[in-house]
Formats: sequence, C-alpha cells, structure tokens
Amino acid sequence: MTRPVAVTVVGGGLAGCEAALQLARLGVATRLVEMRPVAATPVHHGDALAQIVCSNSLKSVEPSTASGVLKQELDAMGCRLLDAARACAVPAGSALAVDRDAFSAEVAARLAGAGVIVERGPVDSLPAREGHLWLVATGPLTSGPLVEELGNLTGRPALHFFDAIAPTVTLESLDLEQLYRAARYERGEADYLNAALDREQYETLVRELLAAEKAEVHAFDRTELFAGCQPVEEIAASGPKSLAFGPLRPVGLGDPRQDGRRPYAVVQLRQENREGTIYGLVGFQTRLKQGEQRRVLRLIPGMQDAEFVRYGQLHRNFYLDTPRCCAPDFSLLARPDVMVAGQMTGVEGYVESIASGLYTAWLAAARLRGLSLPALPRTTICGSLLGGFLFDTTTARLTPMNANFGLLPDLPEHIRAKRDRKLARGEAARRDLDLWLREPAVTDLLASLP
Ligand SMILES: Cc1cc2nc3c(=O)[nH]c(=O)nc-3n(C[C@H](O)[C@H](O)[C@H](O)COP(=O)(O)OP(=O)(O)OC[C@H]3O[C@@H](n4cnc5c(N)ncnc54)[C@H](O)[C@@H]3O)c2cc1C
Repeated sequence: MTRPVAVTVVGGGLAGCEAALQLARLGVATRLVEMRPVAATPVHHGDALAQIVCSNSLKSVEPSTASGVLKQELDAMGCRLLDAARACAVPAGSALAVDRDAFSAEVAARLAGAGVIVERGPVDSLPAREGHLWLVATGPLTSGPLVEELGNLTGRPALHFFDAIAPTVTLESLDLEQLYRAARYERGEADYLNAALDREQYETLVRELLAAEKAEVHAFDRTELFAGCQPVEEIAASGPKSLAFGPLRPVGLGDPRQDGRRPYAVVQLRQENREGTIYGLVGFQTRLKQGEQRRVLRLIPGMQDAEFVRYGQLHRNFYLDTPRCCAPDFSLLARPDVMVAGQMTGVEGYVESIASGLYTAWLAAARLRGLSLPALPRTTICGSLLGGFLFDTTTARLTPMNANFGLLPDLPEHIRAKRDRKLARGEAARRDLDLWLREPAVTDLLASLP
C-alpha cells in the first residue's frame, strides 16, 4: 500500500530537488511538483529538473573560500546534489562546474531511484491538509499566481531584485589561435580559455558596451541590481577601468605567448558541457539586445566569428521578507504548515539554494517526527546564512546574499595572514558542524539512515 504524501515540495529546482531527496532519505513520503513544461519561466528551458540557469559553475572548492567551506559542510550532511554535481563535473580549475544537461538527468534519476513522486503543472494555491506540509521552493521566478498566494498568506508584499545571465558560445566558432589556456594563479588545471586584450582593445570594448542598445526590462531599476551579478555594461558605466579591475581582471593570468606577461585585461571562457563543445563567458552577464551582443562581443580577440548558443538576459527575481514572515524553521508565521526554501528565502546562489533545501528538509522531517533540531552553529557558513543572516530583523530590508566569510563571527584568536584566517574559519566551521551533527535530536533524526 502506498503511504500518504507527508510533504509536497513545490518547485523542482536546486532547493526543491535537494529537499525532496533529503526527505526521501529520511523516510518521508514525498511528492515533488514542478510546473514546467506545463508552464514556463523566462529563463528555464524545457522540463529539466534542478536546472542550472546561468553559469555552469558551482564555484570554488578551495578550503580558503566561503563556497569551499560551504561545500565541505554540505558533504558532512550528505548533500545529494553536490554528489550528483561531481558525477557530472567538467574541467574548471579549482571550481566545481557541471555539464548542466547531464546534471539534470542525474538528479531526475536519483529522484526516481529514491521513490519521490514527480508531478508536472503549476501550483497556484496551498490549501491546508491534516498531517501534510508544503515545502515551497519555487525560486526567483515563481509563477504569478503563487507569488500572489504567498502574498496573501504572509500579508506582506513580495520583494525583488534584478539579476542577469551571461552568454555562451560554441567552441568550434572560436579562433583558438588567439586564445590561451590558463587557470588564474595556476590553481588547478589550465581549464579556462582566455582572451587577452591590450589597452586599445579593452577601451574599444568598453566604449562599444556603453554605446550598445540594451533590452527593455519591465520596471527595471538599476538600484535593485544584485551586487554579485551586475551586467558588464553597468560595471563599465561605473568607471573606465572598472571591468579591468572586475570580471576582466588579468591578475594571475599571465599570457604564455608573451613570456607570461600579464595582459591589460582578460575575458575568460569556461567549459559548459561534458563534450567541451560549449563555453560560457565568465562574469559577462549582460542585458544588451541580442544583435548588439553579437556585434560587441565579437570584438573580443578570438571571438570574431562566435556563434551564440545562449544570449545574456536580465530578470526580475522574487523573494520573501523572510525575517518578518517566517519562523526560524522556515514555516510561514501565518501558516506553519507552509515552509519555504531556496533563493526565494533570500539566499543567493546555486549552492546556497541547495544548502537551504537540505536544511529545510531536515527541519520538515524533524517536525513530522516531533523532534526539535537545535539551531545550526553560527560559526558555520550554513548557520550564519540560514540562521543569523536570514533572520536578522535589525535591517529594514533583507538583501539576498551569497555565502561569505563576513557572515561569520570573529575568531577567538587573532591570525594575521588572510589566507590562514580563512582556513581557520573553515576548520572552526567543520568542527562545530560535527558537534552539531552529534546533538541528540540530530542523531535521532539521522538514526534511520542506511
Ligand atoms: C537569471 C538568473 C541567473 C542566475 N545566475 C546564477 C549564477 O550564475 N550562479 C549562481 O550561483 N546563481 C545564479 N542565480 C541564482 C540562483 O542560484 C538560482 O536561481 C537557483 O537556481 C535558485 O534555486 P531555487 O531552487 O531556489 O530556484 P530554481 O532553481 O529557480 O527552481 C525553482 C523551480 O520552481 C519552478 N516553479 C516556479 N513556480 C512554480 C509553481 N507555481 N509551481 C510549480 N513549480 C514552480 C520553476 O520552474 C523552477 O524549476 C541566477 C538566477 C537567475 C534568475
């Protein structure tokens, strides 16, 4: 006999798929409802689950970076999507990057293997049902009716910010003679293709980026751009050298064809798929009109004949005022049977959204078992982001954020060297997470794991 569904996860994105896999792992009868392909978003394509919408990089694995430490924490908790990502990794130096189609297929197979029921079609309302929890993880591009439903349930207007994606091109359309392979500071393998720009080429590129026509985006307000994902034309407008000190910075990318001398600026391209046939422009988010993207980006050395597989775009991203409408277990104050996860709670980034899905699933499973999990330690990236940051009521407006060391409290001891300080923060995070995993309620929750 099939068990009644205890949790319906809404949204088959990064947070939703991780949550569903964790719930299944913890023995909870779970249904996952994804609206695509019945309804679409402006960014996702087709019906793929756990779709990576922009850059294919899940960022650094270095233990001296916040995203590296976050990955270590998630591994310690048995994260399913990171494991799937490694199975679909493509070369990317010290970053974890994936073949996005292979990754989606891998996650879909794991969901089927875990016995999660997957249904298709938009969820517009969230009716209360005895013994049932909703876990809503519909992301920054949540459908209009559900945004309205959440507004009604929380009694608060939705918040939003703007975020852009970068274009991708085919490898065969690039002139490899004009590009060189290198990883910044020679960290990891030389997996990136690099286009070196001299000063004149750089200045021409900046001039053309500024002069190019931009696509109209409804209600666009540049003050609401996400700081970590600014379109290149916006960065260029902030100063003539801003790009050369930003996404086009040449440090650590000496050109072997010029005796290792550092170019004036560098555009990096990263492999996007397993076959190595598609490359994405790193940090080159843009909202130029498509024809203008073709015209301007073909000024980059080696890209004069570039064929575009995907164009850059800018989108309005929805999120909730989490500190004021959720309890610390991510249930809505007005409807405790509705929990929320992923980017819509105010975290930003693929891995951060995965982390949110994992933790919220554990909280949901604990609730169903009558367990009360202790708060995650603030010294961990997960705890500082999903606890401290998202529930800080002292700021008037929540502004979404990536994992970063600035969220962590000061270390008890003073460590002078920056890298050593970061490594020490990572060690403290792992140690404290380990202790948390040994708390009685957590061990009770995990007791049934194989
Ligand atoms: C344009 C853009 C570019 C981004 N670029 C990057 C980047 O380069 N690097 C990075 O780390 N992060 C990036 N992000 C941010 C963020 O990490 C991703 O959006 C991430 O996928 C969020 O995960 P999520 O699970 O919360 O939402 P999503 O992965 O978006 O998943 C939500 C799912 O819910 C579905 N859905 C929506 N409404 C409904 C409904 N009513 N019923 C059922 N299903 C529904 C959607 O179809 C989607 O599949 C970007 C975001 C955007 C919008």
